[in-house]
Amino acid sequence: MASEPVYVIVGGGLAGAKAAQTLREEGFAGRIVLVSQEHERPYERPPLSKGFLLGDEPAAKAYVHENGWYETHGVELRLGVAATGLDLAAHEVALADGSVLPYRRLLLATGAYPRRLDVPGADLEGVRYLRTMGDSCALRDDLAGGGKRVVVVGAGWIGLETAAAARTYGNDVTIIEPEPTPLYRPLGPELGAVFGDLHRRHGVDLRTSTGVARITGSGGRVHAVTTDGGAEIPADLVVVGVGVRPATGLAESAGLTVADGVVTDRSLRTSDRDVFAAGDVAASDNPLLRRRIRVEHWANALHGGPAAAQAMLGRDVVYAPVPYFFTDQYDLGMEYSGAAGPGGYDDVVYRGSVDDLEFVAFWLAEGRVVAGMNVNVWDVTPAVQHLIRSRTVVDRDRLADPRVPFGEVS
Ligand code: FAD
Repeated sequence: MASEPVYVIVGGGLAGAKAAQTLREEGFAGRIVLVSQEHERPYERPPLSKGFLLGDEPAAKAYVHENGWYETHGVELRLGVAATGLDLAAHEVALADGSVLPYRRLLLATGAYPRRLDVPGADLEGVRYLRTMGDSCALRDDLAGGGKRVVVVGAGWIGLETAAAARTYGNDVTIIEPEPTPLYRPLGPELGAVFGDLHRRHGVDLRTSTGVARITGSGGRVHAVTTDGGAEIPADLVVVGVGVRPATGLAESAGLTVADGVVTDRSLRTSDRDVFAAGDVAASDNPLLRRRIRVEHWANALHGGPAAAQAMLGRDVVYAPVPYFFTDQYDLGMEYSGAAGPGGYDDVVYRGSVDDLEFVAFWLAEGRVVAGMNVNVWDVTPAVQHLIRSRTVVDRDRLADPRVPFGEVS
């Protein structure tokens, strides 16, 4: 074991970078090493399918810290090198360059990777995924001129945001989605249909309840996508957004408990007392939701990294966030709080106008708000989250009435 206090963070995304910041802010004076296999210093991913992809936002805005922050704060950045081994007993992390880092405490913030499409032709040139800054740059180069035939596989958040960017640039866009609506699993059919209408109004050919059977090409390059219903859709470019899988390889090989993510308790501690996990990779016991949940969203990395850092310092931490997500597509901006997919709610109540895309939707279960989404309505997230946290039984009509303050809907 290391004789001086060395805290190692594996994964240089938002969770890892924010954890390093918190360690210093909280007065940790030992060595901090942040290891990341990407060559870029830590950056935030949401702009990669929005402002950065659209060419409206420079890369500089995406970085978590300005150039020089790591040096100033004594955080050793080991970029472009993967952690390849973890020895829990020896308290050591092995890196791909052959070096070994001893640690006193370790944070796994390795994030997630895009799920690959497993159909014939998926490896053709022109089939793309979107996770890194490099992916986004390459996609922007392809989309920016417009006039291409783009097939987006998967109507989840990444697929829909990419479709919106592609349409904004003037490309023809077809989306293929096996569920009956976009965003079916996170939102259910009611709000999924709102996103479906939005994209159709912007000229997207949205095909639901159908999957991809194969991708065909000529000369090694994609030229069509065939659905499992037999429709052949010509394509110059295919963008796959079929979800992510947590980057658990290191944890698994070390023998940590893994179940759709690195399993942690409510303080983000893994099955080893000196190893913590945060961000997309962590499957944490959330006392508010009364279940274990892995959250693949920005806010969870933003707050989970610091919470894990506090726990690494021995502080009493109970990490119990209301899951939170935001998106921008065309003229729709929204924030979503909570967790209520199909089967997790029995009613949806609207406050405002769905037709005008200016409303708050509430998902109710047994009269209590379990999730809320504000669409082009702002500054209500704290009130929505308070309703979720307080488990108040609400009056349906008062909840739907914009004249009734959120504090008086019970
Ligand atoms: P990551 O950002 O994935 O960072 C993990 C890092 O660790 C990566 O650099 C990875 O390469 C590295 N790593 C992995 N394994 C190793 C290893 N063995 N050794 C060294 N390094 C390793 N969320 C929202 O809430 N709203 C949005 O609008 C939104 N938009 C998004 C748009 C895009 C295009 C993407 C890809 C994601 C978006 N998200 C959004 C999700 C959000 O970005 C993620 O939840 C967040 O990035 C998770 O941060 P993280 O630090 O846990 O992991």
